[in-house]
Amino acid sequence: MSANPDHPVHPDHPFRSPAAVVPPATVVIVGAGPRATGLIERIAANAPELYGDGAPFELHLVDPHPPGGGRIWRPDQSPLLWMNSMAEDVTMFTDESVEREGPIRPGPSLAEWAREVRGAHEVREVRGAHEVRGAERPPALPPELAAEAAALTGRSFATRRLQSAYLRWVYERSVADLPPGTIVHEHRDRAVRVTGPRDGRQQVWLEGRTAPLTADAVILALGHLDAEPDAEQRALTAFAAEHRLVHLPPEFTADSDVSALRPGEPVIVRGLGLAFVDLMVLLTEGRGGRYERGPDGELVYRPSGREPVLYAGSRRGVPYHAKIGYSLSGERPPVPRFFGPAEVDALLSRPARPDFRRDVWPLIAKELGFAHYHRLFTAHPERVAGEWSAFEEKYAACPPGSPDLDVLVAAAVPDPADRLDLDTLDHPLAGPRFGDHEALQQALRGHIEADLARRHDPAHSPDLAVFLALLSVYGQLIRLGDIGGWWHGFFSFLASGPPGPRLEQLLALSRAGVVRFLGAETTVTTDPVRGVFRASSASVPGHAVEARALVEARLPEPTVDRSRDTLLRSLHRDGAAATPVGLLAVSPADARILDRAGRPHPRRFALGPHTDARASGAFARPRTNAPAFRQNDATARALLRCLRELSCRATVTA
Ligand SMILES: Cc1cc2nc3c(=O)[nH]c(=O)nc-3n(C[C@H](O)[C@H](O)[C@H](O)COP(=O)(O)OP(=O)(O)OC[C@H]3O[C@@H](n4cnc5c(N)ncnc54)[C@H](O)[C@@H]3O)c2cc1C
Repeated sequence: MSANPDHPVHPDHPFRSPAAVVPPATVVIVGAGPRATGLIERIAANAPELYGDGAPFELHLVDPHPPGGGRIWRPDQSPLLWMNSMAEDVTMFTDESVEREGPIRPGPSLAEWAREVRGAHEVREVRGAHEVRGAERPPALPPELAAEAAALTGRSFATRRLQSAYLRWVYERSVADLPPGTIVHEHRDRAVRVTGPRDGRQQVWLEGRTAPLTADAVILALGHLDAEPDAEQRALTAFAAEHRLVHLPPEFTADSDVSALRPGEPVIVRGLGLAFVDLMVLLTEGRGGRYERGPDGELVYRPSGREPVLYAGSRRGVPYHAKIGYSLSGERPPVPRFFGPAEVDALLSRPARPDFRRDVWPLIAKELGFAHYHRLFTAHPERVAGEWSAFEEKYAACPPGSPDLDVLVAAAVPDPADRLDLDTLDHPLAGPRFGDHEALQQALRGHIEADLARRHDPAHSPDLAVFLALLSVYGQLIRLGDIGGWWHGFFSFLASGPPGPRLEQLLALSRAGVVRFLGAETTVTTDPVRGVFRASSASVPGHAVEARALVEARLPEPTVDRSRDTLLRSLHRDGAAATPVGLLAVSPADARILDRAGRPHPRRFALGPHTDARASGAFARPRTNAPAFRQNDATARALLRCLRELSCRATVTA
């Protein structure tokens, strides 16, 4: 395979039909991360049926980062950064659970692939170095990744670098599966503009190049985008510049320059999600600190002395819940039940756009409660009174959040700890106030220890049922388009938290005094007199922390208006529609970009977090009818049909 970015990946395959009058169709995909890789897999799977039995086409991939992993999953990043999904929960391949029209093409999950790598490595060692590599065969990995793959279990959290190698392999395999003769060009460039008439060929302009790429169809898989700072961030940056402070605005943490955060100095960190975990890792182990097990088995952090002191807070004041550390045994929760295709149809058929809190959330709450109690009754019957069938019938009749529901649950579930309380889950620190900072630290450590224990104890398996119901809800929500930020935050807090071992490390860092918690409703202000940032929280009234550095530990909001992506901004300027919070509007059926009149563009498609169908950001879990697979399949099929129609027209004209 050619490493030269602008050279065809398959130079040795001439077009199969030199006599054809019609040139092969040309497709440009901008962004070559996981989403684009998944789309190529689906194009390859669907091409034999939909695009002239084996006819080749030309595919241009544009991304400054290597195709397969793209920017987030690039190979050259710190080996300390992990995925936050277990290896058995990550797959790039469809299975029979996926509702799609195209063929299923089975393939390994990350965990299975690592096993194959291990096996292939052993075979290679036996046979020596003269083996021929096929696209199907797992690659030979550099020694440190081979060692990681060898030790990886289904329940491990792989490094981002190992995931990068998996994605690269999936990419190469998918490219090899494209119709014979297809030429793939990799351009390590940034695309800045798409032009062209609605009913004609499109031009994709690359930064620093005078001639555009010309395409029959364009797909934007731009992923997570950098944003221009909003007014608050601009003011904080200006304040920092004026007082010679450090302010790191929201950005992809692996790209942040954290060298300005000095040893021993306090740093205020806003955000306790996954960006916080990355920051914590880079500033502790990344600066030479190490973990050891104490005599009692407790994890102990041995500082290098080069760490700053992180004062971390957020609206909730607690880190995201740990990933659940056990598998489901027995029956899966039978969802969707209260929030499925029929309920979404009903919401869509209303004349006005549904209001999330009023129209959608009650259905979601009912679905989550259903999954929770179904599991409690079926897996832990000793903790309930009565039969599931009787409870189920009454539950179905109770409006969500109603006093009737409270009465029903109180009668059937004696221990309040076994009842699902979504408000308390969302605001775990809403009530308590602490007399001093140290009391808060102890309480927070207690909270994290309890969470870790609970998330690894199958006695709490209704949590897992709620998690599975959350995934189901996520899948349904795609059809409603952008439904606002609160839901995404709530989902991430419950379902997309850090690996358990990361929370164990956080506890050790807290005990070592390297991380200190600020509490709930953390606010940050600037003090022009003292020339510092100041953080306080509702949890410890009257207590404030001053620091000369402030880090916003979160990703930038993916909005069209403030995106740094010139391409996205120009598209919007040229008439593409955006949702109220500024995501690119696409048709739910096949991800075609919509104009402001709601018309789908015949030749432009967009997939991923910068669109209003972003409800499918994470990697697919096997056997979960993953939304990303459904979208990729539908989009690949629409694209291939579009190319077929164009080539038929061209043949007639010729
Ligand atoms: C730090 C981080 C960690 C994550 N960890 C996990 C995890 O552990 N498990 C999980 O399930 N999900 C995780 N996610 C969710 C994430 O959404 C997916 O893993 C995945 O990366 C999304 O794929 P994508 O291709 O849509 O976007 P991206 O991965 O962002 O890829 C988009 C690509 O488009 C390119 N691009 C953008 N604009 C242009 C342009 N104008 N011209 C050319 N190229 C362009 C970028 O360079 C990039 O390579 C994580 C996300 C982040 C940000």
